[in-house]
Amino acid sequence: MWVVPERSIAELVSPDDAFAAVEAVFAAMARGEAENFPVVREALGAGRQYGFKSGIDRAGGAMGVKSGGYFPGNAERGIPNHQSTVFLFDSDSGRPVAAVGGNLLTALRTAAAAAISIDRLARREARVLGMVGAGHQSAFQLRAAARVRDFERILGWNLHPEMLPRLAATAEELGLPFEAVEPDELGARSDVIVTVTSAPKASLLDAHVRPGTHLACMGTDTRGKQEVEAALLARARVFTDEVAQSVAIGEAQHAVAAGLLRAEEITPIGAVIIGAHPGRQDDEEITLFDGTGVGLQDLAVAARAVERAVARGVAVAVEI
Ligand code: NAD
Repeated sequence: MWVVPERSIAELVSPDDAFAAVEAVFAAMARGEAENFPVVREALGAGRQYGFKSGIDRAGGAMGVKSGGYFPGNAERGIPNHQSTVFLFDSDSGRPVAAVGGNLLTALRTAAAAAISIDRLARREARVLGMVGAGHQSAFQLRAAARVRDFERILGWNLHPEMLPRLAATAEELGLPFEAVEPDELGARSDVIVTVTSAPKASLLDAHVRPGTHLACMGTDTRGKQEVEAALLARARVFTDEVAQSVAIGEAQHAVAAGLLRAEEITPIGAVIIGAHPGRQDDEEITLFDGTGVGLQDLAVAARAVERAVARGVAVAVEI
């Protein structure tokens, strides 16, 4: 089997590659050609989470699992809080094909999912991007969002203001002005809002968000997390990567539990990609993408990394 080390990923998979790979697998899910298996995610105590996301893409040929989790003490040790490794297997024989460093891939595939939602659902003339969250993922999210719309200004809020320089620096890298604001102002002025925090309760309220906004809610990937008020999901047209995850571990879990939203009212973004759903229906509508993170996204970008690594001679062969 092949090993593709974490340090090689940056030169193998670009944000554009991630966008294309994730969009293709969302489409395959909508056509019934790819499926995610149930997620295993366990709390280990002290804020640590560990689990497995897996699936099979019959069209793309990828089968495998991402093993990983969230270890909040890591930042102090100079390593990302998220730790992931992707294992790919041959779908005919079950033989292992590759082990791939999954940290950068996770950030790229998560940012790609939000960018796909912005590309498909935000108003064309969106100019102001609001960022809620300033952790590791936020810079990737900001860069990916800026690839799909001509933003002119970035607004940011974070519970821990000492982290805001990350957003300011990323905005500067993109040549865009950045302003730190409170959540109500962020909601009142943004055309697109990305939320990417590990918050246990809503930071952004329904009353903060104006008509016509698109939101990509990317932080809630576990039961008990929440980034936006449940009433906002009742007001919005809600899309997701996968409905089963959205209602169980995604942002929609709270609105569904409160009886404000039904699973049948949530549309997989893949349906929009393949043209089976029109997506946004007018300029006043609020669209909200509940990005829970599916195993197939990980397999799609990992398969791309392996293909490139083998072609360029940077994959390491090992016997197992
Ligand atoms: P990080 O630890 O680097 O940053 C955490 C962020 O959450 C910071 O902005 C922090 O200020 C904020 N935060 C922490 N506690 C908060 C609270 N009580 N209220 C409001 N904000 C709070 O983490 P990260 O790597 O940037 O990941 C952010 C979130 O995204 C995590 O919840 C992670 O599990 C999730 N995530 C989702 C996907 C997906 O596919 N949907 C993929 C990767 C990460």
